[in-house]
Amino acid sequence: MDALKQLIRDVPDFPKPGILFKDITTLLRDADGLRSAVDCLAEPYRDKPLDQIVGIESRGFILGAAIADRLGTGFVPIRKPGKLPAETVSASYALEYGTDTLEMHRDALGGGHRVLIVDDLLATGGTARAAVNLVRECGAEVVGLAFLIELAALNGRAQLPDEQLFTVLQY
Ligand code: AMP
Repeated sequence: MDALKQLIRDVPDFPKPGILFKDITTLLRDADGLRSAVDCLAEPYRDKPLDQIVGIESRGFILGAAIADRLGTGFVPIRKPGKLPAETVSASYALEYGTDTLEMHRDALGGGHRVLIVDDLLATGGTARAAVNLVRECGAEVVGLAFLIELAALNGRAQLPDEQLFTVLQY
């Protein structure tokens, strides 16, 4: 875990003063680091029946698609507004640095689909909460949420009291 942490770059005051941005591009470009991160994220779900990985734009796409490939599931994107071409469901949320809306294709998940939600980082939990709401609105079941990084001081878990959370690296 220390080796993975050493591959993550801290960028102070991005995108706003006072935010310490956890830059994972330095981990993604390292072949061993990328493989190890995806291994760690996929491992708890190897024996769990899953139908889809839902990844949150944009770093959740990179990790989520790799996890889907490992676990033999499909991949569904949750995107920023106006990016998805067909009919969408949407949910607004508060971010550590502002507010935003997320969208998912209404027909992306069916009733009874078992879903794992993936993102790079859990901060205040607003993004993840909105993602859970979108998945449930489509009638699918949230089996769990997996994050590479958890910023524990921001207590994102409080937004997700009834969910199964897994985080690889805690700060
Ligand atoms: P939150 O909704 O506060 O849990 O924020 C989580 C989302 O914002 C994730 O998609 C992260 O990629 C991004 N994010 C929030 N804070 C940071 C941070 N300090 N460093 C990198 N990404 C962050």
